[in-house]
Amino acid sequence: MNRLFVALDLPRYAKDSLAVMQQGLPDARWVDADMLHLTLAFLGEVDRPTFIDAMHGLARVETRPFDLELQGLGFFPNRGAVRQLWAGVRPEPELERLQRRVVRALADIDVVVEKRRFVPHVTLARFRVPPPEPRLQAFLQRHSLFRLPPFPVSDFHLYSSWLGAGAAHYEIEASYELVPGLEPDAAARR
Ligand code: ATP
Ligand code: MG
Repeated sequence: MNRLFVALDLPRYAKDSLAVMQQGLPDARWVDADMLHLTLAFLGEVDRPTFIDAMHGLARVETRPFDLELQGLGFFPNRGAVRQLWAGVRPEPELERLQRRVVRALADIDVVVEKRRFVPHVTLARFRVPPPEPRLQAFLQRHSLFRLPPFPVSDFHLYSSWLGAGAAHYEIEASYELVPGLEPDAAARR
């Protein structure tokens, strides 16, 4: 079995800029800078034939390249004990479209992913024990202006995830180019 997800990788400068914020919260499990990514769909544990199907199915996803702008910070869940700290994304229709297409390509091969609304984010840290509220507020305040210059996104990837004793490790299994010059009309098809 392989634990799989589909995600965008981030340019080096974005990873490095995000890593600068990865301090100052007690009991945070910070995601390694190299491992920072934006998840489009989580497949979970799949068998070998499904892995192969997913590799091929994702090749049929066609959307255009776009620019992505990371801005703002947020937490999951919205209410209750904080489990996850993340960097947000400026709304980008082409990203939403790509995510829908990925989900649909996976549905075509009978892989069902979560129905929850897509909230694009880059996870910075996870918590077993939520940080004290004042620390959280101080952290948010310190980084309230967080924003990176936009960067071009020209591909997406199928990743495998290896959960070990320590931090999760991800590996790119396959990469898919977005298609420049794709007719806006064709791209607008949902
Ligand atoms: P750990 O589970 O040990 O904290 P992790 O969450 O980084 O590590 P995975 O659970 O394999 O590793 O998740 C891989 C990626 O898929 C991460 O970006 C994670 O946030 C995302 N992900 C995991 N489960 C889901 C889910 N049920 N729905 C949407 N995304 C998910
Ligand atoms: Mg997880």
